[in-house]
Amino acid sequence: MDKYQEFKNTIGPLRVFENEPLSRHTYFKIGGPAKLFFEAKTADDFKQALALATKLGIPYIVLGMGANVLVSDNGFSGLVIKNKVDEVKLVGIKGTLGRDGKSIKSAVVWATSGTLMNRLARFTIDEGLEGLEFLLSVPGTIGGGLKINAHFEVEREQFIGNKLQTATVFDTKSGEIIIRKQDYFNFGYDYSKLQETQEIVLDATFRLDVAKNKEALWQAAMDNVKRRNEEQPIGIACSGCVFRNIQPKEAIRLQTPHLTTSTGYIIDSLGLKGEKIGGAEISRHHANFILNTQNATASDVLELIKLIKIKAQQKYGLDLKEEIFLVGDF
Ligand SMILES: Cc1cc2nc3c(=O)[nH]c(=O)nc-3n(C[C@H](O)[C@H](O)[C@H](O)COP(=O)(O)OP(=O)(O)OC[C@H]3O[C@@H](n4cnc5c(N)ncnc54)[C@H](O)[C@@H]3O)c2cc1C
Repeated sequence: MDKYQEFKNTIGPLRVFENEPLSRHTYFKIGGPAKLFFEAKTADDFKQALALATKLGIPYIVLGMGANVLVSDNGFSGLVIKNKVDEVKLVGIKGTLGRDGKSIKSAVVWATSGTLMNRLARFTIDEGLEGLEFLLSVPGTIGGGLKINAHFEVEREQFIGNKLQTATVFDTKSGEIIIRKQDYFNFGYDYSKLQETQEIVLDATFRLDVAKNKEALWQAAMDNVKRRNEEQPIGIACSGCVFRNIQPKEAIRLQTPHLTTSTGYIIDSLGLKGEKIGGAEISRHHANFILNTQNATASDVLELIKLIKIKAQQKYGLDLKEEIFLVGDF
């Protein structure tokens, strides 16, 4: 029997779709069909699909919310597993509980990797725990967030990886399930070791401090949301920032205003805001966003990316690096 058919039969023919358009599963609303598509709703579903695809030698990709990917117009001639495994709970407290409950200093939160970062933020704020409130309204799942080390204010060290304690990963080569400690991931700006190993995160624990004032936590989180809404284009299909910011040493070399490392500033200064190719457009609001304004294709977006990279190289000698991941058959 064909290995794809075997996968379908084992998981359940009615739960595995053929030729599912991936444009339905990305924030960009771009992407051709997946040969096979499966939505994992429980931890067992997810592990079973990963183990079976690995055993059968089926090429596969895991998608979270598709908020940081550009999927090929050709789609993917393998299996796409969409991770909808969504659970978050408090699993541990450290320190002693005084009568007033105030002596608890930190707590551990456990969540499956398909949990939305927004849900994780809400949960931790509601529990009066600080350290992940900056994730409020950041699109995507914990799994996708750990792969790119999702962040908000970099200068204030607001990275998801900073609060990670452990993560359970599926090793795509051996099929083993391994618990990794935080230092394994080598987190940096827009970087985690997952980008090299291609391990799949199943669940994660985060150690967070008890906040002095829960209301202040909500206020800080809402202030971030307000800032994000002012700075970023709203309501148009896109995948967030397309490029990583430039390095501080490049900002010094170029003497950018206030030594900003913003690639949005660089693209703006190249005069590229509003530039269009096909249905894709460089946002006038935030130049590091490419928008799908009129049924854009992945090729349209790639052409704009190419244009920006060439101009940045010619004018500033900069080698811009993409933040978004290219997925599928390019
Ligand atoms: C409007 C908008 C605003 C944004 N603002 C921010 C922001 O402020 N800060 C920020 O950091 N990001 C921001 N982003 C980017 C995006 O939110 C993050 O990159 C997020 O982490 C993507 O998560 P996801 O689940 O959608 O990942 P996906 O796009 O589904 O996947 C991204 C990559 O992660 C891999 N992956 C997914 N799940 C797993 C897993 N369980 N284990 C291992 N690998 C996995 C995928 O294979 C792919 O390579 C923004 C995006 C949008 C659209």
